[in-house]
Amino acid sequence: MAGLRACTLYSYHLQAFYWAGKRMANLPARSTDIMERWRIRLKTYRDVLVRFHEIGLKGKNRPMFIRQLVDNIRRATVGTGVSKVWSGRMIVRLSLDENADWELVRERLSRVFGAVKFAPAQQVPLNYNAIAEAVVELADERTFETFRITANRADKRFEMTTRDLNVQLGDLVRERTNARVDLKHADLDLHVETMADEAFVYANGFAGSGGLPVGTAGRVVVLMSGGIDSPVATWRMMKRGCRATLVHFHSFPLVEGRSREKARELAEILNTYQYDTRLLLVPFAEVQKRIILTVPGPLRVVAYRRFMVRIAEAIAYKEGARALVTGESLGQVGSQPLPNMATVNEVAHMPILRPLVGFDKQEIIEQAEKINTFETSILPDEDCCTLFVPKSPSTSVRSEEIIPYEDEMDIGEMVKEAVKATELFEYHMPIA
Ligand code: ATP
Ligand code: MG
Repeated sequence: MAGLRACTLYSYHLQAFYWAGKRMANLPARSTDIMERWRIRLKTYRDVLVRFHEIGLKGKNRPMFIRQLVDNIRRATVGTGVSKVWSGRMIVRLSLDENADWELVRERLSRVFGAVKFAPAQQVPLNYNAIAEAVVELADERTFETFRITANRADKRFEMTTRDLNVQLGDLVRERTNARVDLKHADLDLHVETMADEAFVYANGFAGSGGLPVGTAGRVVVLMSGGIDSPVATWRMMKRGCRATLVHFHSFPLVEGRSREKARELAEILNTYQYDTRLLLVPFAEVQKRIILTVPGPLRVVAYRRFMVRIAEAIAYKEGARALVTGESLGQVGSQPLPNMATVNEVAHMPILRPLVGFDKQEIIEQAEKINTFETSILPDEDCCTLFVPKSPSTSVRSEEIIPYEDEMDIGEMVKEAVKATELFEYHMPIA
């Protein structure tokens, strides 16, 4: 059976593009109200402006970051009625078709890393009177007690300074409405963006995901169990601009579990953040059988994990990845007490990144809910690392204790066989 599995090599399955539909990210507060107005006014609001912060700071690399952000927005909004995406100096613009599905555009934009804020905006001629008229119109449509003007000259050629725009428009709105200016906690934030040939005005806007565009920080291999933590760790790495190859170890047919299906479902959800995803399912039963025969019970969790790291690293070299990632946070069970973490770490040659190391469980759960992986993660399943492990395994396994047992096994061959028997699944969002 092992031989047969080993012969499977990488079987390629192309999965259909998937959206987590109803389970999309939560709307920001106050958004329903604002959306209602925007729906009514969508005929005027043909453009969406996307702001970014961090990418703006990247000096010489900035054009590359912006190009990636534009590409990612194109991928994310395919089929929503976005006709054009292009970039200015500090802003990315989208043009919407007449029949654009704004709610869908909004949902998808809210998941694009690198976008800090976005909003449908009204295009007006590049002169003060036209800008003032549009700002007053936005203010007249709303009830608010405090407000601020946030002017920004994306193109510096506009005749007025940002400060003059803020002050003059602020005075205008204050006189008309009697509302107070509050720079820190305004009910209404009226934005003005001046470009080379036109200006845009909009109110408030939606929060983006922040971070850096996926594809700007290289590839990592994530050890992804079917649990709650590792999908969140994956999302955190993608938010830092990494592309993640997902590696899942399963003990089928040693246990009949749903872990492979869960891993595939999680890969589909995570793909909505990075547009192209490779998931590798690694049969781990043969390795586990060997460990069970060789290594005493209390040391087995650490022995399993050391093999997982070796196999994941072999895959990472093939994938062109520069680091491994786990969902570990310090002081939980199994591999996670610091001494065990260190003993597992010793077999790695690449850095092992642990983006959740300082988080507690509740924080991780909240994040999992927000990114839509939680419901899948909590489906019942058997954790392969609890197999033939005593109820309380050792929390402090030293490598000197485990190496003599490992020496009895042909580690290189076991790793090679596991990599060979790996199945590949690919997920793609359509290309614009
Ligand atoms: P998770 O919620 O991610 O399963 P956990 O709290 O259950 O984590 P452990 O079981 O100690 O913690 O696993 C720690 C990490 O080891 C996981 O976050 C994951 O990165 C990796 N890992 C564990 N089991 C597997 C597996 N079957 N396949 C791939 N990686 C795994
Ligand atoms: Mg787990």
